[in-house]
Amino acid sequence: MDHSELASLIAAASPELRAELDAAIARGLRALEVPPPVRMSVWAEEHFYLSAESSYVEGRWKCWPFQRAMMDVIGSDAVQIVTVRKSARVGYTKILLAAIAYFAQHKRRNQGLYQPTDDDRDEFVNTELDPMIRDVKVLRTVFRDAGRKSKNNTVKFKKFSTGVLHVRGGKAAKNYRRLTLDTVYYDELSGFDRDIEKEGAATKLGDKRLEGSTFPKSVRGSTPKIKGHCNVEDSEASADLRLRYHVRCPGCDEEHPLEWGGKGAKNGMRWQGGNPDSVAHIHHCGYLLTQAEYLQIWGEGRWKSDTGVSIDAEGRFVDAAGQVIPAPRHVAFHVWTAYAPQATWPQLVREFLDAKAKAKRGDIADLKTFVNTTLGETWEEKGDTADEHELQKRAEPYALKTVPVGALILTAGIDVQDKRWEIGVWGWGRGMESWAVDHHIIEGNPASEEDWDPVAEYLRRRYPQAWREGNSLPIEASSIDSGHHTQAVYNFVRKYAGQLRLHAVKGSSDEGKPIKGVASAQDVSWQGKTYKNGVKLWLIGTDTAKDLLHGQLQIAPPLPGQPCPGYVHTSTDLPREWYEQLTAETRIPVKTPRGEVLRWIKRRPRNEVLDTRNYATHAAHMLDLHRYPDKLWTRLEAAVQPAPDLFTAAPAKPARPAKPDARETEMAAVHTSAVAGGDSGWRSWNRNEGKSPW
Ligand SMILES: [Zn+2]
Repeated sequence: MDHSELASLIAAASPELRAELDAAIARGLRALEVPPPVRMSVWAEEHFYLSAESSYVEGRWKCWPFQRAMMDVIGSDAVQIVTVRKSARVGYTKILLAAIAYFAQHKRRNQGLYQPTDDDRDEFVNTELDPMIRDVKVLRTVFRDAGRKSKNNTVKFKKFSTGVLHVRGGKAAKNYRRLTLDTVYYDELSGFDRDIEKEGAATKLGDKRLEGSTFPKSVRGSTPKIKGHCNVEDSEASADLRLRYHVRCPGCDEEHPLEWGGKGAKNGMRWQGGNPDSVAHIHHCGYLLTQAEYLQIWGEGRWKSDTGVSIDAEGRFVDAAGQVIPAPRHVAFHVWTAYAPQATWPQLVREFLDAKAKAKRGDIADLKTFVNTTLGETWEEKGDTADEHELQKRAEPYALKTVPVGALILTAGIDVQDKRWEIGVWGWGRGMESWAVDHHIIEGNPASEEDWDPVAEYLRRRYPQAWREGNSLPIEASSIDSGHHTQAVYNFVRKYAGQLRLHAVKGSSDEGKPIKGVASAQDVSWQGKTYKNGVKLWLIGTDTAKDLLHGQLQIAPPLPGQPCPGYVHTSTDLPREWYEQLTAETRIPVKTPRGEVLRWIKRRPRNEVLDTRNYATHAAHMLDLHRYPDKLWTRLEAAVQPAPDLFTAAPAKPARPAKPDARETEMAAVHTSAVAGGDSGWRSWNRNEGKSPW
């Protein structure tokens, strides 16, 4: 049958037959276009090579069992969209590189790969893509410019004899225009802005480039971020099929995925008596699967959905009854660190226990990282506003301007307003447990130098202790905001540099900035004089400090007198206004040019108590209190709140020295030499004791 005969036959056929014939012809033509298809996992084991720069082990690729079907589905022409919600350490980047090589050499496709930003792109090309192209031998026949700079081999563009590869940062909408692609990849999808310059999601803009392709393919992989604000979570939710890797339980023969579990969970990681080395994966039948045993049976595992659909050894989709079914349009995988041999299970438990201990003290950063990058799960933000009523209800009956028992060292935060200074003084104890000790307002004009004198005076005061054997404590360090009256603040810090441990600070609300940021030297211009590099200015990660305080305020109250790392104690003598200011901000999603981010926003006009708390926290971090090991706290405790002397002091009426001043001097001397004193005393103490883990 020649072409005209075929055409007339089609014209005469019924619409249904015509559609079938069209499809048959398309399939026939496809067969001519591509070489006999080899599944990606098979191709990769034959041709893919791990480069030394980016791998623990250089050499030929060998699939981990759970990677095989992931690769085959990514390489399949029948599946249009693949979403991979993943943790770190599961080899996803290598799968991505293998896919690029496979689609270039074996399937001859035009490809585009997006990274969240141009910087991410540069790093990916330099450390991953270029070494891969150099080391995978079969690419040499289709990419002759490997290893040399040319217009066909740039950081943005690679021209193969069989197609092209564009590599782009995903921030600008223009980067998604004017490309014609068959395959588009989004690496670290959840790192992309939620809305690309108001034109929509990255996947929407990038997938448009696939229109017109015979085999359009969109590959989206990422560690997840915050629940409800996470691109890969959104993509996974829209999938037709969601799969997890199942292994067969040796105890009851049932297939199940590996789960982290958690307290009281029937399935998940279980260890005994706080010993990470005893970890095993418990199944609800009671069987405990060790990692060694898992690594013996993982080869017989398979990807399976809640509805029983799975992928067989040939990469086909099979329903619960074992029948092969058409491939779904959009398939999602979830995989996390326990599946890979890269990390040991005891190691994961240790990471978790460390992160949990920090979270107990109110610092949730590591736990969030664990959930996102080890479990591959979204992080659920909760309680974005602390409640001032609840907070005031749990206040304790201790006197202000007195150091409560347990607080061993004081720092202050100072906020400068147009007509006043506000000074918040906090006491710190073991594990950064803290007590509000004082909030003091001084009226005056910061533009006038002599008005600062009462501020300096106040910072020099000492606070009596509630501990009956204890002596008064000074403010060890202070941090002062330089946002208003900047030069006046610089001048103050410069002027008292030798007498008070003072830090000028400037807030930075960039995401993830440390509380104690970097310092830079600033000139001080004051009353016609310039002091070159007269003062150090410290950046303070204000959002980080607010996140930390927010976490600390969630800690449940301890039993009276019991230590409770991170807990924030407040006095019943503090007014409602103080509580309202401490909780004046709430964390909400905000639309920015970069997309949606979580930001602290004022819900009340006044927030000075919160600001001074954050500056006092900065001052505490300047003293490294947040990294004190237990033994340093013990040392400090012995110096500041020594145990009552049972032999000389009558318990009911402690012996008082004849002259209180003499005793004060003596105790101050102990404190100074042992703990803080002048700068040199502090430093030498820190140096001597400082042979510590950090
Ligand atoms: Zn079982």
